[in-house]
Amino acid sequence: MNKVVIIGSGCAGWTAALYTARANLEPLVLMGCQPGGLLTTTSIVENFPGFPEGIDGCELMTRMQNQAKRFGAMSGFGTVEGVNFKKYPFELTVDGELVRAETVIIATGASHKHLSVPGEEKLETKGVTYCATCDGALPIFRNKPLVVVGGGDSACEEALYLTRFGSEVFLVHRRDSLRASRIMAERVHAHKTIKPIWDSVVTEILDLRHDAVTGVRLKNLKTNAERILECAGVFIAIGHMPNTGIFKGQVEMDDNGFILRKHGSATSVPGVFVAGDCSDHVYRQAITAAGMGCAAAIDAERFLAARNE
Ligand code: NAP
Repeated sequence: MNKVVIIGSGCAGWTAALYTARANLEPLVLMGCQPGGLLTTTSIVENFPGFPEGIDGCELMTRMQNQAKRFGAMSGFGTVEGVNFKKYPFELTVDGELVRAETVIIATGASHKHLSVPGEEKLETKGVTYCATCDGALPIFRNKPLVVVGGGDSACEEALYLTRFGSEVFLVHRRDSLRASRIMAERVHAHKTIKPIWDSVVTEILDLRHDAVTGVRLKNLKTNAERILECAGVFIAIGHMPNTGIFKGQVEMDDNGFILRKHGSATSVPGVFVAGDCSDHVYRQAITAAGMGCAAAIDAERFLAARNE
């Protein structure tokens, strides 16, 4: 029997693990299919306090993991396939095996949103990608025109990173101003290689006949004019959706699948707590996820203490 099982191994999960491990609760972290979470797909993290020069996303996650393990946190590579929060102790099915827990901290984070346009799915890994840091340096993108879709911090970060490799980087955004923070927007506007294409959406990714990305079909939302823009890569950075599918019917969520918090990190099920991007569509920062992980750990510790009184 586990006192604490933490589902997810991003900033929220490892911070919850650090705190519960230091409270001698021997947490088990189920790392899932993307150990380290979304931060491992980013480049330099400049806004995590304590790292004035910035820190590589993967390195930050490795450090968090090492810090939690130093105090006895355990980890497993398992993927949680289902949960039963209607029973107590709670039951989780992890790669076909049953895992029982007195408390659960959900820290499953979020995944990249898809455009859902023709060509996107079939050309994934053939020029369509959701991570410039992971794929930008590939030979197929070198000295070629590249397209980034989106207008937030992620899209700006992707575009700036891709200026190292692409001949031109077209930033396609559906409005005429960026959603990104001012500092990121200013960097994008100042970069000669980045060419914004405003008020426009990608309606198709070409070309399935070549089994590779050769361009995108663009539609201007103000004029309805369509055109084809040649490119070798499409980097989609239009936000995220919470990874909460396995909790449907088990804990209360909003219409978009974000898990609702009652007070602190408590969910609708006593003993089940939540932290990070799977419950937060407002702040969505590494540091806020870490803070929520800390809160969930403290709440889980207090829940266990109250039960044992
Ligand atoms: P975001 O802020 O939600 O931005 C998503 C962008 O994609 C928006 O510009 C949105 O357009 C556009 N979009 C959404 N759906 C679309 C669709 N179907 N077709 C075309 N465009 C679409 O997401 P994010 O950029 O991933 O950032 C998420 C959070 O992480 C934010 O809080 C951000 O500050 C943070 N973040 C920070 C950094 C950093 O500080 N270095 C880096 C990355 C992310 P509209 O603007 O019209 O809605």
